[in-house]
Amino acid sequence: MTKRMYLDDNYVKEFNSTIMKTTHEGIVLKETCFYPEGGGQPGDKGELVIDDQHIRVKNTRIRKGVLVHETDSQDYEKGSIVKGILNWDYRYELMRSHSAQHVISRFFQLNYQAETVSTQLKHSKSRLDFQPLGKITQEELSGITSRINSILAENLPISIDTLPREDAFNYLREKEYQTKYLEMVPKSVKSIRIISIGEYDFAACAGTHVKNTSEIGEIKLISTKNKGKLRERIFYSVTSDE
Ligand SMILES: [Zn+2]
Repeated sequence: MTKRMYLDDNYVKEFNSTIMKTTHEGIVLKETCFYPEGGGQPGDKGELVIDDQHIRVKNTRIRKGVLVHETDSQDYEKGSIVKGILNWDYRYELMRSHSAQHVISRFFQLNYQAETVSTQLKHSKSRLDFQPLGKITQEELSGITSRINSILAENLPISIDTLPREDAFNYLREKEYQTKYLEMVPKSVKSIRIISIGEYDFAACAGTHVKNTSEIGEIKLISTKNKGKLRERIFYSVTSDE
């Protein structure tokens, strides 16, 4: 099993490790800070340096339960020393986007009684699907954008706590937060990672996040799209030059 450094520290950009094995898709390391695609967040990109050779990591994914750094060539020796370098610009924007998504989801839950039923984070433009939610006009959308931006401007701290399953339930109940999504996590998962955003939002999540909402800056809700009966898709961006 690869030790996943990003679970405890989302700001690790470089690390040293060794090759555990190679697969026909890429390289498996003893430890890594590369996030594997999942939970609506894309896999990390970057490079691995082996014997002064820079190998591009095109994507990071879980394949048959194993964390694989996808590379063009897999012709490397087990036990080789590796230096991993994350494409930090790419990942940092996804971290900002992911933390923003939690705040947007909570906003719609509190103000529209709409649950987030699907998320897809992407570089420059991400999206969320809400249900039940009727048509949101462009004018309403810009009003919501400012209200969300004023929440982000409160500089709320974002913390990560890994708790035993039962404690995680108690923590969310204590915060009067719903445990519906936590109940969906398979019983075999014994420890749960909780992301807290000030006193605004609490959620079980395995993704990567920034430390404070000030790092997100201003977001923009760009457009909406109807995706069926009372299912509304909202596109947003965390890049200010949009
Ligand atoms: Zn999340």
